Amino acid sequence: MAEVLVFVDHVDGAVRKPTLELLTLARRVGEPVAVAVGAGAGGTASVLGEHGAVRVLVSEAPEFGEFLVVPKVDALAAAVAVVSPVAVLVPSSAEGKEVAARLALRVGSGVVTDAVDVEVVDGGVVAVQSAFAASFTTRSRVSRGVPVVTVKPNSAPVEPSAAAGAVEALEVGFSELSRGVRVVSRAARESTGRPELTEAAIVVSGGRGVNGAENFAVIEALADSLGAAVGASRAAVDAGWYPHASQVGQTGKSVSPQLYIASGISGAIQHRAGMQTSKTIVAINKDAEAPIFDLVDYGVVGDLFQVVPQLTEEINTRKG
Ligand code: FAD
Repeated sequence: MAEVLVFVDHVDGAVRKPTLELLTLARRVGEPVAVAVGAGAGGTASVLGEHGAVRVLVSEAPEFGEFLVVPKVDALAAAVAVVSPVAVLVPSSAEGKEVAARLALRVGSGVVTDAVDVEVVDGGVVAVQSAFAASFTTRSRVSRGVPVVTVKPNSAPVEPSAAAGAVEALEVGFSELSRGVRVVSRAARESTGRPELTEAAIVVSGGRGVNGAENFAVIEALADSLGAAVGASRAAVDAGWYPHASQVGQTGKSVSPQLYIASGISGAIQHRAGMQTSKTIVAINKDAEAPIFDLVDYGVVGDLFQVVPQLTEEINTRKG
C-alpha cells in the first residue's frame, strides 16, 4: 500500500492533537509514516503507533532546536527521498505552513494549505478546502510531484488504530541554508490554562456586546466551565478588551471546533470567515435580527449578562 508522510508536531515528545487528527486522515489515503524531529522525538513513537503510524522516522539532531524552520524542511525532504510517499501532510500552524511551502519548493511539487480533508480520486491525492467563508468546497490536485498538504486543526477526529509504530533513524544532511537563522533565546508564554484557540474542541467568543475588558470574565467563566478556549471579534480586540492572538476571523485565527458559542457578536462576514466551519454554532445576542442568527444551530435572543452566567451556572451544577 502507498505510504503517506505525516509531519509530527510535538513538545518534548508530547504529540499535539492536530498530528493525531492528521493520522486519521492519512489512513484514508495510505499507510501513515510519521516524521518526528527534535528533542524528545523518539518518545512520540508509541502514541503515533497507537494512532496508525506504521513507521516513525526519528531524528533528534540538535539543529532542530538551534535553528529556525529550515532543518525541519531538510528532514522532510530526506524522508520524501527515503519513502517516496503519495503525499506529505503537515499541521496547518504558521510554522507548518512555512515548512510545507519550503518543502514543496525543495522537492519540486505543489502545496495546498488549510485543507479540511484529503481523498483519493483516480489514484491521486486530492485536497479538500473550504473557501470564501465556507460558502464553497473546493477539491484540488497538485499537478506535479508529491502533493504537500497542510490540514487545519479539528478537521478530523482522533481515532486510535493500532499499528507497528516501528522507529527508524532518519539520516538528515543539514544544508548551510538551514543554519541561516539561529534561535538565541526562548521564553515560555504565560499559560492561561485554557486550550489553544485553533485546536480547542469548544470555543467561547465575545464581541462588542461584552462592552469592556473587565466583562470578559463572564465569557472566560463560561469557557472554563466547558474546558474551552476564549475567542474574540475584531471589534473587541480593536477596543483593547482582549489580546489580538484571540481574534477569530478573516484577519484573525480560523477555528473549526465541535462547538462555537458567540456572545455579543453580530456575525459580520469577516468574523464568519474564521468560524463558519464549526460543527455546532450557538449565539447569544439581544438583537433578534443580528445576522449571526442566520448561521446558528441554536440561538438565544437575550442579554448576554443574564444568559451567559445562567448557562455557566447550569453547566457547573450538572458537572458537579
Ligand atoms: P458588532 O457588529 O458591533 O456587534 C455587536 C453585537 O452585540 C450586536 O449584534 C449587538 O446586538 C450585540 N449586543 C450588544 N450588547 C449585547 C448584550 N448585552 N447581550 C447580547 N448581545 C449584545 N471581524 C472579526 O471579528 N474578525 C476578523 O478577523 C475581522 N477581519 C476584518 C477584516 C477586514 C478587512 C474588515 C473590513 C473587517 C474585519 N472585521 C473582522 C470586522 C467586522 O467587519 C465587524 O466589524 C466585527 O466583526 C464586528 O464585531 P462584533 O460582532 O463584536 O461587533
